[in-house]
Amino acid sequence: MSTAKGSCLCNSVTYEVEVPFERFMYCHCQRCRKATGSPHASNGFVKRDKFRWLTGENLVRRYDLPEAKRFALQNCSNCGSKLPHHTRDGSMMVIPTGTLDEDPGSRPQAIVFWGSRAPWFTDCSEMTKHEEMPG
Ligand SMILES: [Zn+2]
Ligand SMILES: [Zn+2]
Repeated sequence: MSTAKGSCLCNSVTYEVEVPFERFMYCHCQRCRKATGSPHASNGFVKRDKFRWLTGENLVRRYDLPEAKRFALQNCSNCGSKLPHHTRDGSMMVIPTGTLDEDPGSRPQAIVFWGSRAPWFTDCSEMTKHEEMPG
């Protein structure tokens, strides 16, 4: 067991999680696409006791989607970044892996809600790659 730290964009909220993740997957469901503004969410899952906030917990805002059985998210009320959230039953933490500042050691194993992917979604292997934004 080791730990990986993460933070929001404004760095007010920081956390630490014990890794590796139990599960690590990309989710293409419409809710995740809306919540992330991206083609898919990238989430790691750990038991809740493997997670702790380090700073800024008072800035963490939660949203439980009313019509959903499970869907929830948390974000930083200062910068708006998505942050880890606990599942509604309280047993697990869902870590949006883009917020990690360290390598969790785990790699994504599965894609879920592939059937809901955006029509414009393109596999990265088919795209031109630049190390940074080209001029
Ligand atoms: Zn923030
Ligand atoms: Zn999803």
